[in-house]
Amino acid sequence: MSLYARARRHAWRMMGVLAAGVVLVVLVDRLAGHSTLAFAAAILMLLIANAPMLGFNCPTCGKNAFFRGVLVVPWPNRRCTRCGSDLDAPAPQNR
Ligand SMILES: [Zn+2]
Repeated sequence: MSLYARARRHAWRMMGVLAAGVVLVVLVDRLAGHSTLAFAAAILMLLIANAPMLGFNCPTCGKNAFFRGVLVVPWPNRRCTRCGSDLDAPAPQNR
């Protein structure tokens, strides 16, 4: 599976976690009133779930597929923004 495909799958998972986090905050808000703790828990959950993001690096130059310049985007690049490598190539380790 290509780096882009794996990164894309991670992006989908993150959207699921984000949705779960929003639901959690809304639910706690309704049941227990406004809670900063629930908000903090949701953010912590997002941070932990997002940790694998740092592993999606370009096989040629090591640039992260989720970075465009200095900005982090929620969707991976199909083509490396630094060296132009095709991150959708099926076997990136064969370089
Ligand atoms: Zn690169």
